[in-house]
Amino acid sequence: MVQAVFPGSFDPLTLGHLSIINRASQLFDELHIAIAENQSASKSAIWSLADRKQFIEAATQHLSNIHVHIFSGLLVNFLKAKNIPLLVRGARSAVDWNYESELFHVYKMLWPAVETVVLPADIQYDIVSSTYVREIWKLGGDISGMVPSVIIELMEQKKRS
Ligand code: ADP
Repeated sequence: MVQAVFPGSFDPLTLGHLSIINRASQLFDELHIAIAENQSASKSAIWSLADRKQFIEAATQHLSNIHVHIFSGLLVNFLKAKNIPLLVRGARSAVDWNYESELFHVYKMLWPAVETVVLPADIQYDIVSSTYVREIWKLGGDISGMVPSVIIELMEQKKRS
């Protein structure tokens, strides 16, 4: 059985992430989506880890081979604990490709068994990012072209409560 881990911040999950998940779920028997607790310095989270997990679960209900986790600490330690040396990542621009290539070499240094499968972004989601979604959402704009509708409904509910 081939298992893979798709790690990220997912703050929040976008249609771009979902497209990678849909495609990866066809490629691997089990796909583990791993939400990183450690926030990179350049990104400040606006949804809690529990909210982000709920959003992903709601948007992936049509898939039977998805598992959603929250992890803290080094991604490589999470991979080792699960004994899954296979990562899935998505890449939009050349900047993403370079970044993913660098990350791959860093992970490989920490655990030589690691391999990464990088899937090119779908053309219609090439400029979709969680960063834009957070900005547009904070300023009251329309994010329906970037985020699954089921997640927007949950966001609206949370805003009201
Ligand atoms: P990270 O903080 O690790 O970059 P993200 O949640 O921003 O986490 O992204 C997780 C993964 O999804 C990364 O590999 C990123 O390049 C990829 N990704 C983000 N947005 C898109 C998109 N629109 N299409 C395809 N892949 C994407």
